[in-house]
Amino acid sequence: MDDTLRCDYHPREAARWQCADCARAYCRTCAYCSEKPHSSAPDAGPPCPLCSAPTESVGHANTIVPFWQRIPDFFRYPSHPRALAYMGALALITTLAPRMGLLGVLLVFIVMVVFVRYAYATLEHTARGHIEPPPVDMDMVTQRLGVAFQQIAVFFLLWFAAALAIAFLGPLGFVLAFFFVLALPATVMLLAMEGRVLVAANPLRHVGLISSVGWLYLALCLFLVLLSGGSAVITNLSAAVLPMGGVMFVANFTGMYFTLVMFTLMGYVVYQYHEVLGFDVDQENEAEGEDMRAADPAITRSHILVCEGQAKAALDTLSERMRSGSPDPGLRERFQRLLVLAGDGTRLAGHSKSYIRRLVEEQKTGKALAVYRDCLRQVPDFDLEDSRLVVALIQAAGRERAWDLVLNLARGFRERYPGNKRIPEVYFLAAQALSEGQGKDERASSIIRQLLEKYPGHVRAEEMQRYQAALEKLQAARS
Ligand SMILES: [Zn+2]
Ligand SMILES: [Zn+2]
Repeated sequence: MDDTLRCDYHPREAARWQCADCARAYCRTCAYCSEKPHSSAPDAGPPCPLCSAPTESVGHANTIVPFWQRIPDFFRYPSHPRALAYMGALALITTLAPRMGLLGVLLVFIVMVVFVRYAYATLEHTARGHIEPPPVDMDMVTQRLGVAFQQIAVFFLLWFAAALAIAFLGPLGFVLAFFFVLALPATVMLLAMEGRVLVAANPLRHVGLISSVGWLYLALCLFLVLLSGGSAVITNLSAAVLPMGGVMFVANFTGMYFTLVMFTLMGYVVYQYHEVLGFDVDQENEAEGEDMRAADPAITRSHILVCEGQAKAALDTLSERMRSGSPDPGLRERFQRLLVLAGDGTRLAGHSKSYIRRLVEEQKTGKALAVYRDCLRQVPDFDLEDSRLVVALIQAAGRERAWDLVLNLARGFRERYPGNKRIPEVYFLAAQALSEGQGKDERASSIIRQLLEKYPGHVRAEEMQRYQAALEKLQAARS
């Protein structure tokens, strides 16, 4: 069951904005990649990357993982050490207090009030988009304790209304009473959001909330019913192995734990539907900021243009951005890849040269070699011109045993760069390429012989001699 609207350019991402003009849906990253200024109209979304018309929100709910896919998270939530310690302390008090007579009864009552306050704080915290339980501080045990009494008042009002309905309306009264039971989660959510008894007990508000959430409200109720039995199951199991005091503690503790799971679940439902419910959250803007920083917007824009079949416009977008001196190294890489795909040989050769130079300067010669290889496929006579680059790539190719590239790069080196002091190295590698890549041992052997005659004192002369000897041995063995 997935009716999430997806980004047209990132099928795994949920869409956040949609353009009415070109009917494209955009994830957060895509939506913020246009260079055009945002419209000043109050509800206008970011400008459409394709046509620049202001986009429209498809609802933040579309990008939130729906609650039924996160059920395990709600069990994890109260197992945060902070919440566990707090519930452990409260459960201990309620377990020990009954031994203290009347004072104990009062203590249990206070603990209940304090815990209900914590449960509501948890609901609100989750509803605002947080993933950790709220901090336990002095406020948590001294402030807003009235919410427990508010909840009692709301329940009493509903219970009273249900009793009246059954007494005076006959069968219709039972239907109404059933609705009041069904509305219990709605009352809790409304009380947490607005903090007022008359709002939380107002059947019109219940209908409003339930219709906003839709059929999934019933799913929420089902989960809550299942969860409400959880504590009893665990308590019964513990009765077989624990003494009475222990069982009492388990009952008190798991009662709180499952209550917190339920409140977290309800809080998340508020978060998921916060737009239609008109509830402000803390998290959306933070998340958006992060997405927007993830990549250079020009890269995203070029991705959209390529998907739309506008490769040339994509290239223009990137080259313009590079001219403005963008620091993102992903930009050049992306540009290079697009040039290869676009098959524009002249432009590819031009950019490859400067890109290879930069990569060599950054000592990323392996990557530079890959760029060279890609370019050569489309531009067979691609020429690096700069001897330093040629040498750097020959060495990289030698390390990778890419013998065909070594030979390609070494071709005509001596004639093109007469007197270059890297000539012995270049030709020694070319000889190895001939021997190992093409099996031309004799030719390799003769090149090395010439090198040794011409450069007897070269730093790698010894290495060349060893190689030469090995080649000769090989030839002798063959003949
Ligand atoms: Zn996207
Ligand atoms: Zn558009």
